[in-house]
Amino acid sequence: MKNLFISQTINKIGQEVELYGWVDSKRDHKKVVFIDLRDRSGVVQTVGNEKLKQLNTEDVVYIKGIVKKRPEKLINPKIKTGSIEIEVKEFKILAKAKPLAIPINSDGYEIDEDNRLKYRYLDLRRQRMKKNLMFRHRFFKAIRDFMDKQGFIEVETPILTKATPEGARDFIVPSRLQPGNFYALPQSPQQYKQLLMVAGIEKYYQIARCFRDEDPRADRAYGEFTQLDVEKSFTTQEEIRSLIEDLLKEVIEKIFPEKKIFKFPFPIITYQEAIKKYQSDRPDIRQKKDPNTLTFCWIIDFPCFEWKETENRWDATHHPFTSPKKEDLPLLEKGEYTKVRADQYDLVLNGFEVGGGSIRITDPTLQTKIFEIMGHTKKQVKEKFGHLLEAFSYGVPPHGGIALGLDRLVQVILNEPSVREVIAFPASSGGRTAVMNAPSLVEEEQLKELGIKIVK
Ligand code: ASP
Repeated sequence: MKNLFISQTINKIGQEVELYGWVDSKRDHKKVVFIDLRDRSGVVQTVGNEKLKQLNTEDVVYIKGIVKKRPEKLINPKIKTGSIEIEVKEFKILAKAKPLAIPINSDGYEIDEDNRLKYRYLDLRRQRMKKNLMFRHRFFKAIRDFMDKQGFIEVETPILTKATPEGARDFIVPSRLQPGNFYALPQSPQQYKQLLMVAGIEKYYQIARCFRDEDPRADRAYGEFTQLDVEKSFTTQEEIRSLIEDLLKEVIEKIFPEKKIFKFPFPIITYQEAIKKYQSDRPDIRQKKDPNTLTFCWIIDFPCFEWKETENRWDATHHPFTSPKKEDLPLLEKGEYTKVRADQYDLVLNGFEVGGGSIRITDPTLQTKIFEIMGHTKKQVKEKFGHLLEAFSYGVPPHGGIALGLDRLVQVILNEPSVREVIAFPASSGGRTAVMNAPSLVEEEQLKELGIKIVK
């Protein structure tokens, strides 16, 4: 039974300890053998007699020994436990390891990424990747603590659901019980969180998985990502922005104290200004690119609609549930769609879009009109969104919210080159999952049950 992490051995000088872990390295000095033992928390030097020679790198072992202070000149300042070593009294090999398929003693950037993903369980043994997962865990925990303190409750929403538009393609899942019908995986919990506002939850959040079938891009993981999804009733754009500013300030100070947030509250730039000054709606406004500076800014006043040339119709810049700004409603009436601004806000960090949200439409008539502008017929609106419109007829509080892309946020804070460096098992940008190598063929029997025929 393991009840001590290697990092805790420094406080146990003179005591007998029992350790479990992997052989990180072995140094054979004939009669004396050194084994560096590694667990999640770090590495410690152990020393014993010739019997230790049977241990090989990456074997899983149990070691019992006495913690000894090292003489001053043998202290290794490079490791946390460098001031001690363990004098081995007893050991056991719990599992042998064959030579690893990929090296793990470097940062790993130099190794072919497909190979790293194929052997992700080995890749994650490297210190950098463990550190990233640990930061991610602590970051998420601090977020949950903050949201809880502010009175938000975490509610889970379905993964097998109906399409909800966020501007990407849906992943669809065939139904066995109703052949010919399909679920969609949620591009976001958008409609559910709005339904939770109708339900009177008032302050909702969720660390939620979202699914979008988007075209491959080098710096992205394919298919799914994790977001902090937030919705609040009786709110304003200013209140949501300041909630997120306070959240980020608190958790970054706690988890990444070496990082400095440049300008607080975050600067606000209108979409028009951003395009004019930076030719981008996610500008990098840093003056100096210091790796420890985090420069956030808000982009507001986006146009509500954009013209989709390929589909010959208007689409929502954010999503169709976003409210136009009140003062622009007359423009909407007049059909001047390009001039209508949305009550929307995007969050940008060092030139990366890390979040976005809006105040929502709660008037069923206005919501129907927006869908119609986007080219839906009345019948389609009823089929696709009738549930939401009906819900709004039973007393809907005004509400708004936001979602932060947590993979991207952690990546940028840790200065990693890709989100895949901060996800345990990311899919490759080409769309194959790590280790398990999905997608794959299914049995003929399964297809039959679903009433599906593959057309070659
Ligand atoms: N549902 C939006 C998204 O996933 C965020 C929001 O409007 O709250 O981007």
